[in-house]
This record gives sequence, structure tokens and C-alpha cells, in this order.
Amino acid sequence: MPVTKLYIDKEVEDYSNVREFSSRIDLEGEIVDDQQVIFDIIQESSDPIQKAKEVIFLTRNKGAFIKKCPGTSIYTCCGYKILHIGTFCDMDCSYCILQTYFHPPIMQYFVNHIDMMTELDRIFEEKAIHRVGTGEFTDSLIWEKWTDIASKLVTKFSKQNNSILELKSKTVNIKKLENLNHNGKTILAWSMNTPHVIKEEEKDTTPLKARLRAAQKVESWGYKLAFHFDPMVFYDNCHEEYKDVVRQIFKNVSPENVAYISIGSFRFMPDLKQIIQKRFKESTLVYGEFIHGLDNKMRYFKPLRLKMYQAIVSEIKLLAPDVLVYFCMEDDEIWEKTFGFVPDKDEGLSKMLDKRVAKLCGLNKGLLI
Ligand code: SF4
Repeated sequence: MPVTKLYIDKEVEDYSNVREFSSRIDLEGEIVDDQQVIFDIIQESSDPIQKAKEVIFLTRNKGAFIKKCPGTSIYTCCGYKILHIGTFCDMDCSYCILQTYFHPPIMQYFVNHIDMMTELDRIFEEKAIHRVGTGEFTDSLIWEKWTDIASKLVTKFSKQNNSILELKSKTVNIKKLENLNHNGKTILAWSMNTPHVIKEEEKDTTPLKARLRAAQKVESWGYKLAFHFDPMVFYDNCHEEYKDVVRQIFKNVSPENVAYISIGSFRFMPDLKQIIQKRFKESTLVYGEFIHGLDNKMRYFKPLRLKMYQAIVSEIKLLAPDVLVYFCMEDDEIWEKTFGFVPDKDEGLSKMLDKRVAKLCGLNKGLLI
């Protein structure tokens, strides 16, 4: 989706990365004193979410750059940390939770990188393993068109040994990562789905084959990899198609270089339903049978979820038995019936992931608890 308007917060107009951004996007930036002006323009549009994808606002992150992933105590959580480089996305997936997350939605890119680096230095000094990713409130690699943020972070993480950086994307914007000395501390992750779901529900993203080619390329540059099957969507023949995606992954990359694979099924807060119905009229996503989960989200019935999970996990275990596979936000019964165990309540999943990345990415193993 093309960005057609650039706004710049008056507070940051003299930052060098603002000048750089403006020259690369080739748009005359409009300086604003008050962000409410942009919010109003977005809110008054007939489709505020669409409008928000056409507008970028360069500003300071006035809160924390590093945040805990908002998991819940009800479902097993992975203990991931979010590095908050910006918000929203110019691709347009029907199920995107960010459509309801920001009020209003807005593509912001935070330019106060000195603050960001200071926060990173602080966690690099801690006696703990950290898994840090930029792909929760935005797509990690959409900003590559206009910035060098990924390269900056890859280089920053290469110089320490207690944290890994995860860049998660549905793009193939990997070119700038080729000649970096990453020192094994960056994991490139792709969100995966079947060609059917990508075509029907992931507008403006890249096709599965392109994601796989990009993964193969970065593997040849020495990066470790991860894949996220989330959301898995239920439809006729989905089990076979998800298994086929797993086969395609391991035709393209070697299991030894895959740190982990996460899986989760389609779930949504009730207000996302109306947005999907309004903005994605062709989508059938929300017309299945759902139950109200303990976290207030709607999810597929447990037997449906289990069957999808068991299909995909059996294929992964067949082709890549040593790769760590885990659920994003699932309950004990699902863990038990799929993997035959439940992670310890005391950050069990988090510790499993720490151990895996410490081994694969050369982190200080003395920090493992
Ligand atoms: S790529 Fe991710 S962030 Fe972007 S629209 Fe799709 S789900 Fe949302």
C-alpha cells in the first residue's frame, strides 16, 4: 500500500535520521506541533485503518522502548521482549490485531535512537538471557525501504552475548542484511501460512515462495532462522496444506539453523470481527464456530485446534526433530495432547527458548537458570 503523506513531529525535525527518512521516501514532510491534527485526519476518513496505512508520522517514543510481550497468565507465555521501534504496518492482513490495538491506528516511526540504544545497553549488562524482537507492534522489515534500522540493530546486538534480536516479517526486505557482521545474534523470522491463506487473507504481503527464498538467502549469510505459524486458519484440506508448508520450509533451509517454530490458531477480540466484516468483505475468517476463551478472545473449538496442531507438529517432528516447537497462547491440555508434556508454570517455556537460543546463537550459557 503506497505511503502518500509524511508528517514530522516538530520536536524531532532536526534529527539526522528524520532528514534521511524524508529524502528516501521522496515526500515533502509536513511539520506538526500537535499529533492530534494527524489523528483527526485519520479518524475522519471513511476507512481510518486504510488511511493510517498511507500516512507515516516521525516522532519520539515517549515511553519505554523495551516492553514485556503482553501475554496472559492463563495461557503459557514465551517471555519475549518487544523492542518498540514503531507502530502499525503498510501491508493489510484481514486478521491483523493491530487494527484494533491503536486508537487511532497510525504508522509511527520512532527516531530517538539514542534513547533506544541506552535501553539496550542496560539489558545487555543484565545477568539474564533476553529474546528481543521488533515484530509485535509493526512488521520488523517494512522500515527497510526508508531506514537502516535493522542494520543498526543487527550490529548493536552483534557486540554482546546475553540477548538475541528477532526480526519478524512477511516481506523479503533483506538486502541490507547481507554483509553485516551479525555474530550469530540475530534470528530472521518469517510468519508462515498456506498459499491459500496468504492469497485470501494477507493482502500486500509476499508469496510463500518468496519468503522461503529469502529465508534460504539469509541462512546462506549465516543468520539463524525462526518461523511462526500464527494464525493457523481452519478450512477444508488445511491439515495437508500446513504439512506441505512445513515440507517446503525444510526443502529450502536446514533444521540445524532453525531456532524455533511457534504455532497458534486464529483468535480475535470481538471488536476485530466487525472490522474484518467491514474491510474484508470476501473474507470468511470470522464465520467459523468459535468459543469464548479465558482471555476474552474468540478461538476455534479445542478439538479443531488440536487436530490442526497435531497435523503440523507431526510433520515438523518428522523432518526436524530437534527444532523447538511451541505454542503461542495455548492451555495445558493442548500442550499435553500435542507434545505429551506441559512446560513448568515457573517460566518453563521461557527457559526452554532461552536454552535453545543460547546454544544456537552462542550466548553466555552461564546465564541460564
Ligand atoms: S504483516 Fe503483520 S503487522 Fe502487517 S498487516 Fe499483516 S499481521 Fe498486521
